[in-house]
Amino acid sequence: MGVLSLQGDVMENIKFTEKAFELLGREDYEILEVKEEGDLKSLNGLIIPGGESTTMGRLYTVNGMLKSVRDAAIEGMPMLGICAGMILLSSTVKDRVVGATGQSLLNLLDVQVERNAFGRQRESFEKSISLRMDAFLPYGMTDESLRYDSGTFPGVFIRAPSITKVGHNVKILAEMDGQAVAVIQNGIIGTTFHPELVDNHLFHILFIKSMLGRL
Ligand code: GLN
Repeated sequence: MGVLSLQGDVMENIKFTEKAFELLGREDYEILEVKEEGDLKSLNGLIIPGGESTTMGRLYTVNGMLKSVRDAAIEGMPMLGICAGMILLSSTVKDRVVGATGQSLLNLLDVQVERNAFGRQRESFEKSISLRMDAFLPYGMTDESLRYDSGTFPGVFIRAPSITKVGHNVKILAEMDGQAVAVIQNGIIGTTFHPELVDNHLFHILFIKSMLGRL
């Protein structure tokens, strides 16, 4: 597993993914910081962490990673994009205040997102989100020990985007106030919130399971 490591909350995702592998009883894993194209070669899955999507897009365009990551996904590498990572994965983005951003995107998830949809940093918040349980079933996620039996998950929204349109091939994994906040399409998962900042490994376990299902 790799975590894209040029910008964003990289260490939190590495530690959290280690714990998720442990909870699954797996010891045969390695988590790498991914900085350049060569780092992608040995990977079975990639996490794009939260951070600042315009900065990430610029950095990845300059060092060629935007194209390499997109090529890897098209060849079938599962990915988990969190907040800014999800913005990068999306096909269309606008900013709540400035409108069209013209920023570089991976265009791998057929969703339209609005950046900073809830306002500035100080308007960040936590709220319980509703899981669509049926969307988790294909990944063998029925184990009650995963603590998703209540059908909710603690959503941590940090200067978060919202998903304003969802394409036909995109499955909704979770919602808040009737709006999608986590989606999956062909092994590509996007969350508008930060699953790595709570004590519930559901989304990282889903990601690992979907990755293992492809090996
Ligand atoms: N507001 C950031 C952006 O637009 C995302 C914030 C985050 O990743 N927590 O890129």
